[in-house]
Amino acid sequence: MRMTESYIPTLREVPAEAELISHQYMLRAGLIRKSAAGIYTYLPLGLRVLHKIMNIIREEMNKAGGQEILLPIMQPAELWHETGRWDDYGEEMFKLADRNQRQFCLGPTHEEIVTALVRIDVRSYKQLPIRLYQIQNKYRDEIRPRFGVIRGREFIMKDLYSFDRDEAGLEKSYQLMYDAYSRIFSRCGLQTCPVEADSGAIGGDTTHEFMVLGDAGEALIVYCQDCDYAANVEQAECLYQKPEKAALHPLKEIPTPNVSTIEELTAYLDISPSRFIKTMIFLADNKPIAVLIGGNHKINEIKLQKAVNCTKLELADPATIETVTNAPVGYAGPVGLQIPIIVDYSAAGIVNGISGANKEDTHLANINFERDYIPTKVVDIREAQAGDPCVRCGGTLQTARGTEVGQVFKLGTKYSIPLEAKFLDENGKEKPLIMGCYGIGVSRTMAAIIEQHHDEDGICWPVSVAPYQTVIVPVNYEDEKQRQTADHLYKLLTESGIETVLDDRKERAGVKFKDADLIGYPIRITIGPRQLKEGNVEITVRESKEQIVVPVAEVHNQLLTLLS
Ligand SMILES: [Zn+2]
Repeated sequence: MRMTESYIPTLREVPAEAELISHQYMLRAGLIRKSAAGIYTYLPLGLRVLHKIMNIIREEMNKAGGQEILLPIMQPAELWHETGRWDDYGEEMFKLADRNQRQFCLGPTHEEIVTALVRIDVRSYKQLPIRLYQIQNKYRDEIRPRFGVIRGREFIMKDLYSFDRDEAGLEKSYQLMYDAYSRIFSRCGLQTCPVEADSGAIGGDTTHEFMVLGDAGEALIVYCQDCDYAANVEQAECLYQKPEKAALHPLKEIPTPNVSTIEELTAYLDISPSRFIKTMIFLADNKPIAVLIGGNHKINEIKLQKAVNCTKLELADPATIETVTNAPVGYAGPVGLQIPIIVDYSAAGIVNGISGANKEDTHLANINFERDYIPTKVVDIREAQAGDPCVRCGGTLQTARGTEVGQVFKLGTKYSIPLEAKFLDENGKEKPLIMGCYGIGVSRTMAAIIEQHHDEDGICWPVSVAPYQTVIVPVNYEDEKQRQTADHLYKLLTESGIETVLDDRKERAGVKFKDADLIGYPIRITIGPRQLKEGNVEITVRESKEQIVVPVAEVHNQLLTLLS
């Protein structure tokens, strides 16, 4: 492609709206343009990158036994009523009606519609397994669309659905996808880390997220330094800690006038936060419960909600706290409380702990588990943190931020039972299909690649996903000798299948170099008067900045070596 015939509007300034490097470079390099909040147009270069990512995905999905289909974006409400998700999905679903007031949604995901497809055509175990996938736009009305295409309201996903006859089949499909995902991300030049995750609104049991580690990530994960355990903090298990061996002292009131937060208490009493039992009052389905946790830990509300099995969980208001503790806010403690007491492992392990006395300006010292209060439940409800022991090997956990680019779920019969997607097994018995679903955020993968491959001048695309592999930059295209060499190389490389851009613009060399670095072509061929006098051109590798001078006649061979 000749630059003079292209649509590549690059920007010099950093757009104010863009916080993340990937978002800034996608706008500046002319890959995308914003159409509305969280909704983007892909310009020619951006679309070329997307297509390359999609082709890698297609090849690996087909290799893993997938067949591509295209499901509709607009989906009838009836199917979503069958699974109950029309109401459960919440505000994130875009809903619309046709002229006859028939309800539809713009698909945020496609479990319902693909299951409804398969239930029509599949009758027998002989037709299984089936693995269907599509690469399609999805719609979610995010409260805060941000970070460019990383959290958009319209985005492109690859989603595959597997249908198997039994758990063993599902296990095989899951493993095939897990392995395919590892190959896809590695072929895209991405370093990813598979982590155990919470299944959220999609449902099901086992799930792994493929995270791209980096400070820009929205998710917090923990990983073990000594084995391959990694999990989302929402999901990461914490171990029961044995109480330390120490003599139990008698309960003692300590006056703490106007001192109520853990920070104030540790300063006032000059004691480590790990000696404190934080007592918090929550409303679980509107009923008050006390939650105890070690003073140096944070409650994980997802775990807490699962532990108490409620649908609504919120911190209690001051009036409720005062009623259940008979004291102002800040002096709650477990001793004498008449409501259920949920105890985190961290609090159960504290010997001679300190907590509120349920009395104004007073705390209690030497509180001991079971001697001074009876727990309703002792569970893991805290957030994992750096320094915790690993649940697998006992090693030490570290934390890191990450962006999710893919997720694999075992759904089981969550959709096939309500949607009555059944088959006859070898004994003629009717059974529900066993399902799995597997997503990759295609547009998000593009941003994640930039997050991992850039420098202060712009993007450094891996060859496999670069919009073009090579750019030819004549320092002055008006010069006849430079023009002839540039045109010759452009024709030669293009005809041999190397994707090449010729920067034939009437611009200063500096402008052309800046654009080439910003857009991030893996290889730049510079044609300047000094080297050309000797019959040479200069080749620059974008990522390493390595430069080599080669005779014009050897450019093609040199490029084949560098690109492979
Ligand atoms: Zn470990």
